[in-house]
Amino acid sequence: MPQLSGSVQTVLGLIEPQQLGRTMTHEHLTMTFECCYFPPAPHEESMAEAPIEMKNLFWLKQNPYSSHENLLLNQEIDAVKEELLVYKQAGGGAIVENTTMGISRNVATLKRLAQETGVHIIAGAGFYVDITHSEETRKMTVEKLSDVIISEVLHGADGTDIRCGVIGEIGTSWPITDSEKRVLQATAHAQAQLGCPVIIHPGRNSAAPGAVVRILQEAGGDIGKTVMSHLDRTILDHGELLEFAKMGSYLEYDLFGTEMLNYPFNLKVDMPSDNQRVKTLTCLVAEGYEDKIVIAHDIHTKNRLTKYGGHGYSYILNSIVPKMLLRGITQSQVNKILIDNPREWLTFK
Ligand SMILES: [Zn+2]
Repeated sequence: MPQLSGSVQTVLGLIEPQQLGRTMTHEHLTMTFECCYFPPAPHEESMAEAPIEMKNLFWLKQNPYSSHENLLLNQEIDAVKEELLVYKQAGGGAIVENTTMGISRNVATLKRLAQETGVHIIAGAGFYVDITHSEETRKMTVEKLSDVIISEVLHGADGTDIRCGVIGEIGTSWPITDSEKRVLQATAHAQAQLGCPVIIHPGRNSAAPGAVVRILQEAGGDIGKTVMSHLDRTILDHGELLEFAKMGSYLEYDLFGTEMLNYPFNLKVDMPSDNQRVKTLTCLVAEGYEDKIVIAHDIHTKNRLTKYGGHGYSYILNSIVPKMLLRGITQSQVNKILIDNPREWLTFK
């Protein structure tokens, strides 16, 4: 069994935490998202099968989940490799690739991308949202689920010896289903045993992050070593956000680059703009949470790659960081958000 304590586990093996550098804490390099296909409006039905073309790009930005082709990020390994090289040149060091079981995780591909680009890649263990759970997963006890997760960290995932360095993104819906609750409990058990980082995909309701944290806490999880993803589409009220922040998890704003009129999975949500995201970060920093913020793009569809007119993996480094500085977040606070906080989180206890 490898000595994990004090190290970060990448798909190429253990590294010193200081080697990470600037880290995006929630990205996908290869995955499929057909589980979440959302049919287009009746008058736009033909778009579901349409190829990705220049004239469709704005429509895709507004309706990314309504085009079958757009959901197959796993077809773009060469483009992703090129973008990782650009990311490295822009000053990027590491990427947490938190694709889990259910959305076509492929750690062998991640290993190849890490070897060919020099970007540190940390893979994710565990299970995505309920609709992607297999019958076998649904039948597993908490103990069995925890064994599977622990084995992916200690021995390897997807039938390989390539090990995961984080548990998650663990998928939850709203309300949280029974199967998801068992996975959360198994996650907490595995984390208690391994001292490893955890990352959560909460359901689309402002009560979801808090409900997940309570389940993890009761099962012995370490909330201070847990990232709550997607807060930008989950808790939009400032007071509610500060209440949640007190629970002690990392606060992740990971949809940078996603701007859309209607968010199909929850029409009650007005998806914030990147300027609004930066504003929320400045508020959180002012409230003293600079040690708890992490950020990313959560690229999971083709249209967000630069190959298809998207922003790519370097957008935060090239454009969002200057905007943060312009709005009064200091360089040392930016360094915490991009370097120190991810490093602290990813280092095994
Ligand atoms: Zn994700």
